[in-house]
Formats: sequence, C-alpha cells, structure tokens
Amino acid sequence: MKAIVKSKPEPGLQLCEAPEPEPGPDEVLIRVKAVGICGTDVHIFKWDEWSANRIKPPLLVGHEFVGVVEEVGREVRHIRKGARVSAEGHITCGHCRFCRTGQGHICREVEIIGVDRDGCFAEYLAMPADNIWPVPDSIPDKYASVFDPLGNAMHTVMSQPVAGRTVLITGAGAIGLFAVAIARAAGAGNVVAVEPNRFKRRLALEAGADVVLDPADEELAARVLDASEGLGPEVFLEMSGNADALVLGLRLLRNGGHAALLGIPPREVTLNLPELVIFKAATIRGVNGRRMYDTWYQCQSFLERHRLSIDTVITHTFPFAEYAKAFDVILGGNAGKLVMFVDGA
Ligand SMILES: [Zn+2]
Ligand SMILES: [Zn+2]
Repeated sequence: MKAIVKSKPEPGLQLCEAPEPEPGPDEVLIRVKAVGICGTDVHIFKWDEWSANRIKPPLLVGHEFVGVVEEVGREVRHIRKGARVSAEGHITCGHCRFCRTGQGHICREVEIIGVDRDGCFAEYLAMPADNIWPVPDSIPDKYASVFDPLGNAMHTVMSQPVAGRTVLITGAGAIGLFAVAIARAAGAGNVVAVEPNRFKRRLALEAGADVVLDPADEELAARVLDASEGLGPEVFLEMSGNADALVLGLRLLRNGGHAALLGIPPREVTLNLPELVIFKAATIRGVNGRRMYDTWYQCQSFLERHRLSIDTVITHTFPFAEYAKAFDVILGGNAGKLVMFVDGA
C-alpha cells in the first residue's frame, strides 16, 4: 500500500510502498479515506528536537483520519464491515488507575498512532476496536477527518463554563480557530483572538471571533479590556505554545478567571505567580488530548445540532500524492487546517 513515512532520522517525509497492516483479534482494518495534517506531523516533518527525541524511524506518520472498516478481528462484536469511522488516536493501557477511573486521556502507558506506532497517512490502518468512533452520515469526510484536533479544542473550551463569558484565545492555528468556533457555538460572550499572522486573523473573524488582535498592537491590552467590561476576560485559552502569549493572557485574565493551556511551550516558562495567579485567585488547567469519550460525543453533537461550522477553518484540501505541496503550504504559514484525500478525490 501507499504510505507517507518518516524513513530516516532527518528532515522530510517520503511517499512509498509499505506492507498492509494485519489487524489483531481485537482490532479492525480501516481503508483510510481522508486525513488531517497536524502540527505534530509538521514537527516530525521538520525533525525538530521533540521529534528527534520521541520518534523511532521508520514510522508511518499521521493520526487524524476518517475511513471505512474493511476487516473485523474475530473478537470484535460491535463494529461491522463497511462502517464509516474515525478513531481516538491515543491507545491507552485500559487497566491502570487512570484508565479505570474514566481518565484514559492521562494514562501513563499511552501510545499515539503516527508517533509511537504506525499512523494513518496510508491506504490502510489497523486500530484497536475500542478506539473506533463510528461517524454518522450527516457528518462529511472532510469534518470527520479532523475530529481529533476538533476534540482538542472542544476539551479545552469545555474545561470551564464559557456561556455568556468573555473568552480570550491566543493562537489562531487550526485548534485555536476550532476553539473560536466552538466558544461561539457554546454561547460565549465576546470571543477575542490574538494571532500574529494576518491570514489567520482573518480566519478567526470568519470562525466567529468578535475582536481579532495582532500581538504587536500597542493598544492590545486596552482593546481586550474594552471587550471585557474593563475587567479582563473570564476565560483564557492558550493555543499557541508561545511564552509571551501565556504571560499576556494571564496578565489580562480577570480576577477569579479560568485559564486552560493546550499550546506546548518548547522550553521552560518563568511566571510571576503572585501577580498572575495567586492574588488573582486564577484557576489554571493543563489540557491533554480528548476525554474518552465525552469529548467525542460533544464534537458530534456540536456538528450535528449546535450549528458549529468548521468549514472556513479547513482552508485547503489535497490529494495524497501532493503531500509535499501540502506541507509547503503549512510551512508558509497562510493556512488553517489541511485535509488530504487518500484516493485523490
Ligand atoms: Zn493532531
Ligand atoms: Zn492506562
């Protein structure tokens, strides 16, 4: 089968022939239809410090997908051949303290497809049946292929109440843009997005932000206060991994406010805790992955019933064979979410 592979510990990816995976007794084999390209895949493409430490080539990359079940392992009872599915890409141990208390998203034995084991940028993928998410017909392939990052955004937005509250979002990459759309659909008051890239600022407006700001704007703090009754936002969602954005958001956060951090800073960050957290009585939460499977039900419900629109966030689609062009577009910076169709359609 065709697959996009990190074959050597160096920058780049190759489209090459790889053996078809064979599903185990508790797994299913999926014919992949469409895949989303994630920031993680870009890290692996660039072969940065994180990927050099974590990835063991050769590896089939990718973890966001939708496809059709082609073959069902003999112990699998609840999934039938022909079902249209996506899947939770975090494969948990299932028996640790965290897994047994409904917190599989923080299982310490987690394996992630496309990172720790072969992923979905391929014609076929084998997945544990427990991870499969059946996709209703009402949700098109393009949306179903990005349930994973949409879930990251959903988990972050839903970490605190947002209805009727001002929400500040720093970073309008794909997940930040999804978060804008979700906060809007969840009834947030003003949604304020901060993003240095002009193209992404426009996408944030299209996704439903009320105020969109460039971090270089000298009036930024005043404009955020204007949008939040002079008190600062009640909710701050950090989606950029940029230390300055983190400090800015915490500084602007209202006393008693809630911050949820999803962006991953590449190195240690120094914070003035008394000023930014303690005397503010702020609540700060780290967000990891998606809740299994609350977040998935929420994503499906928001797409089907709460008028969540993510169409403008998915800015480009490519056939699989043009993966190099797709990565070029992402590296150029002027893109939201990119989806590749494996059959080229
Ligand atoms: Zn992802
Ligand atoms: Zn576990």
